[in-house]
Amino acid sequence: MINFNVPPYVGKEVEYMQEAITRRKICGDGEFTRKCDRWLEVKTGSPKSLLTTSCTQALELAAILADIQPGDEVILPSFTFVSTANAFVMRGARLVFVDIRPDTKNIDETLIEEAITDRTKAIVPVHYAGVGCEMDTIMEIAERHGLTVVEDAAQGVMSTYKGRALGSIGDYGCFSFHETKNYSMGEGGAILIKDSAKAEEAEIIREKGTDRSRFLRGQVDKYSWVSMGSSYLPSDMNAAYLYAQLEMADEINNNRLASWNKYYELLKPLEEQGKVQLPIIPEECEHNAHMFYLVTGSLDERGKLISFLKENDILSVFHYVPLHSAKAGLKYGRFHGEDKYTTNISERLVRLPMYYGLPEVDVEYIAHKVAEFYR
Ligand SMILES: *Cc1c(COP(=O)(O)O)cnc(C)c1O
Repeated sequence: MINFNVPPYVGKEVEYMQEAITRRKICGDGEFTRKCDRWLEVKTGSPKSLLTTSCTQALELAAILADIQPGDEVILPSFTFVSTANAFVMRGARLVFVDIRPDTKNIDETLIEEAITDRTKAIVPVHYAGVGCEMDTIMEIAERHGLTVVEDAAQGVMSTYKGRALGSIGDYGCFSFHETKNYSMGEGGAILIKDSAKAEEAEIIREKGTDRSRFLRGQVDKYSWVSMGSSYLPSDMNAAYLYAQLEMADEINNNRLASWNKYYELLKPLEEQGKVQLPIIPEECEHNAHMFYLVTGSLDERGKLISFLKENDILSVFHYVPLHSAKAGLKYGRFHGEDKYTTNISERLVRLPMYYGLPEVDVEYIAHKVAEFYR
């Protein structure tokens, strides 16, 4: 059976976790947490990275920092994971869903401005499949209307837009290190923060509303409760696991890209015959091969393809059920404008196996079976 995903494992994870354990320092903000944050800051050019226990919590922290209040509106795509929406719903926001572009499946930046009202507070672009949204346009709109931009870059670690790292462009950028993502610590994430005052606020909120971070740096001689807060710190053991993979990020990235390019090359003829659509990567974007997907002809055809692949020991999956038509989406939001592509594409898209270390012969076998299905 060819699995859809196998979590990355590069070999040094256990050694680093052992090191954290031996140090008798496995709570948050330890040595490996700092190493991961520093790595992310250097790699992305962001002035501040803070590891969190998930991308979901990084998004929640961003929503608090953006001061989202009940009744505020947030603009986001409907074609995304539930966490993108939940973080803002938890602060009482109303969701305003906008359609996606048929090429990248990212939010259609040309539809954002007309969805803005005097209640709009933030725009949340999601970099689908690790391919950047049209960030220059989005940032320009946000600036003109005084809106906060929270990038959901859960899938975008190591990707760039016009040479800038995804997650480092907006006011906040949120990464995921869940085991289904390119780099993993089981459950984990990070938030990138542009503004230094907000970064200080974030350190306090994630440390239960205390100034423990400043205490650890020796800036105050005791720490106390200074604001509202929660606990968003991962254990240093998990950070140790992640750090082993970040050190190998180029190797992991290149390996995934090789699989991605092989799929693309082998499936291109099917696209030329008009049978499927392959991903489109805009020139200004460098992606990280987070996923390889196909857009099939119809919902029925997709179901048959997934079954056919399964009969041939290949696990493929689809996503997302558009948020605006889900029970909670109907309750918390509305779709602005016409749903031209969101539902249509979500019904036809299928993801093929993609993970670090996926053997080339497997990619060839999978591509061969997809071609056989279409014969
Ligand atoms: C995976 C994912 C998340 C959630 O990440 P967690 O780390 O599991 O909380 C959020 N948004 C998108 C687009 C994702 O793909």
